[in-house]
Amino acid sequence: MKLLVCPTCAGLLFLESLRCEACGTEVAYHVPTAEMVAVTGRDIPVGERIWHPCSNRQWDCNWLVADETGTGRCFSCQLTRTRPAADDTIALEKLASTAQAKRRLLVQLKSLGLPVDPHFERDGGLGFDLISSFSENRQVMIGHANGIVTIDLAESLDEHRERLRIALGEPYRTMLGHFRHEVGHYYQWVLVEQTDRIDECRGLFGDERASYSDAIARHYATGSPDGWEASFISEYATMHPWEDFAECFAHYLHINETLNTAATAGLELALERQRVITLPQVVAPKERYGAGEFDALLEDWRWVSLFFNRANRAMGKADLYPFRITPAVAEKLRFIHRVLTDPPPSRVEESDGFRRQVRPE
Ligand SMILES: [Zn+2]
Ligand SMILES: [Zn+2]
Ligand SMILES: [Zn+2]
Repeated sequence: MKLLVCPTCAGLLFLESLRCEACGTEVAYHVPTAEMVAVTGRDIPVGERIWHPCSNRQWDCNWLVADETGTGRCFSCQLTRTRPAADDTIALEKLASTAQAKRRLLVQLKSLGLPVDPHFERDGGLGFDLISSFSENRQVMIGHANGIVTIDLAESLDEHRERLRIALGEPYRTMLGHFRHEVGHYYQWVLVEQTDRIDECRGLFGDERASYSDAIARHYATGSPDGWEASFISEYATMHPWEDFAECFAHYLHINETLNTAATAGLELALERQRVITLPQVVAPKERYGAGEFDALLEDWRWVSLFFNRANRAMGKADLYPFRITPAVAEKLRFIHRVLTDPPPSRVEESDGFRRQVRPE
């Protein structure tokens, strides 16, 4: 992600920023240029177009929407197919923080050059049902089906999510992690299952046509197989080939974004200070790793994740990246790297800045 700066004082901003802490300028995110612009009124000229702040700005959405789309809602908010009722303010507060994670996901998908075909343009396009199990008074299953990702807004509550994390024995559970995992199911479907890559995918992850209901029953009855760590990134990944792919996809996005953040900040690690007698002496993460650079990505991540784990421990916190990438897991990540560095032909939609897949007539 590009470094975001205040248009008035050039101070650093976060992707979630609504105003600059340093100078007080109200800001909004302009997707096509990946820059923050000042909100001076309802009409904001950027490039050739007039943009408006998203109508969900009161719910912390800081994106802009092009005037001619006429919806009032930004592209990210339009991707939300189902949201809590207008009078359910408790659920809408959870929606606000959940939508931040969704926008972070979308910015990354865009920077990776992946197509985001929305549900309102095409059957099977990407969309989100963001509902709360607390409001619905029923269990909301987090999952993906036919392009639609369902997220339980109750998981935005730290206490609730942390209780589930401990009960499930997971070292990491975040809303952003849920989004990255679920969108992995979507992209396996779009970029792998509908292409000739499927055979290679099955060779690495297993046959996704295996019964999913049997897999769930087995997973919750007997748990993960002994020695699962050698071949899987997480216990959840052992359940079914689909879950293995989605877990690896999420990890690829975790690694990609953290390396990118380190790179845009100019972080370099001097290994000679760590008394490591090895080459390279300096680890300099890159903003982007090309198709043939997976080994470099993995090597950089080995050192950068080790550094961040040490930094977290220095603060008395758990490891930033509490996972081990074995050779078998690395081959799965390599496959995902290859898929994502060779996306299908697409074109940019100028009114929202996101790519649409170009399909043969
Ligand atoms: Zn400022
Ligand atoms: Zn919005
Ligand atoms: Zn899943």
